[in-house]
Amino acid sequence: MALIAKKIKGTEDILPRDSYKWQFVEKVLSEEAKVYGFSEIRTPVFEQTKLFQRGVGEGTDVVQKEMYTFETKGGESLTLRPEGTAGAARALLEHGLYNDGLPIKAHYFTTCYRYEKPQAGRQREFHQFGMEVYGAADPIADAELICAAKSIFDRLQLFDVRLELNSIGCPRCRKNYHQALKEYFAQFSDTLCATCMSRLEKNPMRILDCKSPVCKEIAQNAPKITDFLCESCDDHFKKVQNYLTAADIKFTVNPSIVRGLDYYTNTVFEFISDSIGAQSTVCGGGRYNGLIEELGGNPLPSLGFAIGLERLLMVMEAEGIEIPTPDTCALYIATMGEGAQREAFRIVKTLREAGLEAQFDIVGRGLKAQMKYANKIGAQFSMVLGDNEIDTKSAKLKNMKDSTETEISLGESFMEEFFSALIAEENGLNKAD
Ligand code: ATP
Ligand code: MG
Repeated sequence: MALIAKKIKGTEDILPRDSYKWQFVEKVLSEEAKVYGFSEIRTPVFEQTKLFQRGVGEGTDVVQKEMYTFETKGGESLTLRPEGTAGAARALLEHGLYNDGLPIKAHYFTTCYRYEKPQAGRQREFHQFGMEVYGAADPIADAELICAAKSIFDRLQLFDVRLELNSIGCPRCRKNYHQALKEYFAQFSDTLCATCMSRLEKNPMRILDCKSPVCKEIAQNAPKITDFLCESCDDHFKKVQNYLTAADIKFTVNPSIVRGLDYYTNTVFEFISDSIGAQSTVCGGGRYNGLIEELGGNPLPSLGFAIGLERLLMVMEAEGIEIPTPDTCALYIATMGEGAQREAFRIVKTLREAGLEAQFDIVGRGLKAQMKYANKIGAQFSMVLGDNEIDTKSAKLKNMKDSTETEISLGESFMEEFFSALIAEENGLNKAD
């Protein structure tokens, strides 16, 4: 039989056997967001195209060639969100969240859509976790945000993910810098890639972010933004570094980090892993003091970062970080006959109400196949119910690990007896450890 459809190129399914890994990571991320005081924000998957054009920046690769943009039946241009910041910022403005008292701290989990060349660590639909701070201009806010990202990597035991830091200043310092970059790169107009040639006039800083090896090589000796920072940007950058050092957070200053989106000012940073190949940036972020104004609000200093969850999981796998497997089914009830099935249905319901995973046969298989299934799902205990067990109100509870059996009443004391067996099993396990 031919399938009528396949998954879209650059998208991935997260299957039941793997989803616990995502849930584990998402739980850690939510907990870290909580201790740092970031509540969750959820925004729509599509927005008006102009939000991203203005917010993400007309000169960026994302806006120029990576967006999934379509026209609605009513003729409006919409875009699937390529990143999480613009939507969060729009919601902040639309709901006047800044009236709730500053700073506003929010985190998000989103799918993002970018029409990129799919490869390891680069998909067309991917997942991000992000943290956003609005209304904090002080460099201590940059340090706190970076510290939050660092503590996520630490909690996941990813101690080799390293922090690289830069400042790209404010529009004032960038004016002179752009000039210097233009002069420098103009010498290489024969060798720069076509995209970078088009960047030369409009946005020469983008050349520093080019992925082509030739452009990367040329960019190595380009003038450094850190030599062009105005006094206040320089002071801001020095303070961020001092706070990080005081908090014992190691970093290196990398003057070629400019980030892929146009909205950044001052601090930019990346967390990079050497264990996942070319798409090595797991987290990117920084300050964007001009974004809110760009979107039509009053100026509001802001900052944030996003972690790519696919890449985060790739690093965890590459580094051999063990993710605890979920608790397995506590009891599987195998049944023979309709009366037994009804009784099994009743028993699993009581167990489930007590918060335990319990299962029974719902596909009408033979006893042997049912027991095979109980094994496959890793049930801790199993129990066979037939007419005899129903009549005597008693069954045999089988410990699936060592195959020992104990008698269990199906009457009022069932739950109590089952819990005792479960506790005994878990204590036994502890002893063995
Ligand atoms: P890159 O330079 O790798 O293209 P970017 O500058 O476009 O990254 P951001 O827009 O800052 O990245 O997104 C933040 C994070 O989201 C990245 O560091 C990465 O972990 C992840 N990410 C970005 N694009 C993709 C993608 N196409 N597939 C998977 N993850 C991605
Ligand atoms: Mg990109």
